[in-house]
Amino acid sequence: MALRKIATIGHPVLRETARALTREDLASDRTQGLIDDMVATMRDANGAGIAANQVHEPVRICVVEVNKNPRYPYKPDWPLTVLVNPVVEATTDETFMNFEGCLSVPNLRGQVPRFAGVKVRAWDRAGSDVAFEVKGLMAGTFQHEVDHLDGTLFVDRVADTRTLCTWADFERFHMSDFAARARALVARFGS
Ligand code: ZN
Repeated sequence: MALRKIATIGHPVLRETARALTREDLASDRTQGLIDDMVATMRDANGAGIAANQVHEPVRICVVEVNKNPRYPYKPDWPLTVLVNPVVEATTDETFMNFEGCLSVPNLRGQVPRFAGVKVRAWDRAGSDVAFEVKGLMAGTFQHEVDHLDGTLFVDRVADTRTLCTWADFERFHMSDFAARARALVARFGS
């Protein structure tokens, strides 16, 4: 297992549409090793998720995990989830404003409208079909990760660029309001 270097905004790999994998691609040592490295890299950087093109591999894999994350203290814990060829589909028209950050966009956060519920369909790392619904705050996380695989960064979806802020100023000026809204979403949806 190795930590991979994370591509930052401006690197063309983040703007590529990542390539779908076959089950044979997925079973290869190369791809299984990539998944292990993505999990290690996400944990090392305190990310809530990471997509393969963020570590310079433009294939359709992303991972999500929240375990008392210091970057996102209001996020509920979420078990390690590996998604291959994922598709997200909104299950509601309701949206909420999510204050997002990204390992590939250092030191910047901004408010992004996200659907309050999505159905996720994918394969797991063994190639088995998985499908589940995600509601609330975590629905935003899955939309963010799958966006990466289509070459989209959260900054592309920031509705009002005046909400962009540094992490320090987020904590100083915006964290308490957003954390209250986030906790209300979590109380309502359970995640
Ligand atoms: Zn990201």
